[in-house]
Amino acid sequence: MTSFNLVESPFDPKTAVVDTVVDAGDPWIHEIKKGQVFRILDLEGNQAVDTLFYNARDPEERYSAADTVRAQGALYLTAGTQLMSTEGRVMLTITADTCGRHDTLGGACSCESNTVRYALDKRPMHSCRDSFLHALAHYDSNKSGGGLTKRDITSNINFFMNVPVTPEGGLTFADGVSAPGKYVEMRAEMDVLCLISNCPQLNNPCNAYNPTPVRVLIWDAPEQ
Ligand SMILES: [Zn+2]
Repeated sequence: MTSFNLVESPFDPKTAVVDTVVDAGDPWIHEIKKGQVFRILDLEGNQAVDTLFYNARDPEERYSAADTVRAQGALYLTAGTQLMSTEGRVMLTITADTCGRHDTLGGACSCESNTVRYALDKRPMHSCRDSFLHALAHYDSNKSGGGLTKRDITSNINFFMNVPVTPEGGLTFADGVSAPGKYVEMRAEMDVLCLISNCPQLNNPCNAYNPTPVRVLIWDAPEQ
């Protein structure tokens, strides 16, 4: 499989306007302005970063996995991928990627999927769905994108997660292809609200049963 399209970024972390670490298992919510460049860096390798995007000015418009796959005619996300909205507009463009492949089919872990995939007694364990809801519940409801609820949690992106599709069309949660220091970077094509669950999953070998922190950085739009 040679679909990996590795592209390095020209941006220097020293000039980033946001540079923060999202601890293992924590959520993060932040607005990214049109033209800003957003990087997620896998600090220790094979961490899944479950991510949703909303139009910050009108959150009814949000990331659409189906439209993204259809628009690019390919299942995996990598450099060159345009992340499409439910209105068929480009929300962000992936401009750099040193990992090479990201998933948008596997969905986010939840207490329900934990019980189905692993065991009934895994139900109370921390999941991405709970992290998304926790972040939304604590977000300022007066801000644009405030007041979102569980109805607004839709099909997400799993950055750094490797979910190859078999020739028969099956989904496999395979060992990760990321490594410490790998990153994916994207330019916002509209003001977006970014909602991340840095996956707390302890039962899946995709992150070696060991959730780890990631670093998120934002740069202002480069001068023209
Ligand atoms: Zn998860």
